[in-house]
Amino acid sequence: MPVKLDLVMILVKIILTADRAVFTDYHGADLFGFGLCMPYRLVPKFVEYFVLAPRAPTTDGVRAKFAPLGLCKTEAALLAAGFRRDEVAIVPPHALPKAVDKDTEIVAIHVLDPKGLAPVSWTLKMVSGGGPSCTELEFENLMKIVLDLKKRYKFKIVVGGPGVWQLRGWEDRYEIDVLFDGESEITFPIIVKKILSGEEVPRYVKGEAPPPESIPLIVTPSRNGLVQITRGCPRRCRFCSPTMWKFRSIPLDAILKEVEFNLRSGIKGVGLVTEDVLLYGARGLELNPDAIKKLFDEVVSLASRYGVDTVGFSHVSCSSALVVKNVVRYISDVQGLSSDRPLFPQVGLESGSPRIVDRYFRGKAYPWRPEDWPNIVVEASKLFNDVYWYPCYTYIVGFPDAQPDDYVKTTELLDRLRDEGFKGWTFPLLLIPMGGTLVEKEARFLQLRSLPREAIDCIVEGWRLSLRFSKGILSKLIKTRNPIVNRILVKLSEKAIQAMEYWIEGISREGIDIIEKQFSKVSIRNSTALAKTVASAVILRR
Ligand code: SF4
Repeated sequence: MPVKLDLVMILVKIILTADRAVFTDYHGADLFGFGLCMPYRLVPKFVEYFVLAPRAPTTDGVRAKFAPLGLCKTEAALLAAGFRRDEVAIVPPHALPKAVDKDTEIVAIHVLDPKGLAPVSWTLKMVSGGGPSCTELEFENLMKIVLDLKKRYKFKIVVGGPGVWQLRGWEDRYEIDVLFDGESEITFPIIVKKILSGEEVPRYVKGEAPPPESIPLIVTPSRNGLVQITRGCPRRCRFCSPTMWKFRSIPLDAILKEVEFNLRSGIKGVGLVTEDVLLYGARGLELNPDAIKKLFDEVVSLASRYGVDTVGFSHVSCSSALVVKNVVRYISDVQGLSSDRPLFPQVGLESGSPRIVDRYFRGKAYPWRPEDWPNIVVEASKLFNDVYWYPCYTYIVGFPDAQPDDYVKTTELLDRLRDEGFKGWTFPLLLIPMGGTLVEKEARFLQLRSLPREAIDCIVEGWRLSLRFSKGILSKLIKTRNPIVNRILVKLSEKAIQAMEYWIEGISREGIDIIEKQFSKVSIRNSTALAKTVASAVILRR
């Protein structure tokens, strides 16, 4: 083993990596990645490192056995551009000290939420009383390792990924040579070649969009079997970054090859990455039912040959679902979904106010009008639940010109969902000035104190609905590969639900002052009480 390791170490010029909050498989349950958006004072160390973000394994002490999809795609782009396999390695953060040496010329880092400013992290900070998120902590931990190695080996640091906007202004602090924004396939290999040949490269680089048929296939398995099926989104919501990318569908043949590659490599899952699964094969917003059905026919059949019975997907939209209701039913039928085997897609509800829909996301309601939006949400919810899709809805609080009445309308929509017996979550997110979005210049990082009472009520209502659903669904939701981890997660989630109920009722009763007075002082990072909870979960199993 040491001899093989030495061979790897001598040759690798380009190391691709990410922090531990990104470079993990979340024990097989991607949704638990959101747990890492919590302030770390509220996440016990053992929960973070043994449950939410276990260490990613390597094949030889250096190369990752699986990696976040963004890194897999970047590696594939370098190989397609002529780099040899032994010149490039995807390395988890803990293995960097073994992997980096005098031959390393570039360490490229993929970031999602390096400063804890993404909508989920920012919202959780504000509602819990502040403090750095686990995502922020892990980025800092990674950079300590990288900067220490850079002192010795003088390589260049290139940072890319959806979170690069958060690092504008931090380039000197982290000694970042290039901030790479956008798609890697065409432009990243060009930048790498320039760096290797000693040419000057600009500090800010924008990646060009490749045609879908020329996106190279991954050669390292992707975490939890994620495979991208579309890029970009044509709906043009003003607060969204994927919509700034040209919309494309990946050819079915390429999707099937990546699915099969992952499965043959031992990954026990398939997850389709998309902004809206029902836009697969669409021309703009003209949906293509045949393409979607064929996609599911072939992917489900392939997955079942490897013993994988459910093909999930990341996102779907309410309007698309109502346009192709029969396709929604088809996706469930073809894989035999049931209340014991449901899907949990993420869906943007955004607001119940037609005025806000019209101003910020009228494309999301297409082909209907903004005033139809509340009914679209209610009807789509019934359809989703009917076919065992339990959505994770997110809605936005803090649109720049939102009025109390806009929040009242959102609360009314949430109440309608509750009265209809909706099964799913409704999570409020504070609007943030996300870099590269159309709303970036109008928005600001909001504090709860600047919001009207109606907005706080609207936040509380969504959390109440979410908790009600969470209580009944825990055992179906928590399905990691490891039964002990399952038990631990169920116990911890029950505790978290109790804490959330206490939090919600506190805010309802006393207003947001309670956050600063009480919640901001809580720290369970080294909690022995929670350790006992975990121990009891393990003992109970025996
Ligand atoms: S529908 Fe979703 S992905 Fe598409 S532009 Fe709107 S927020 Fe972005």
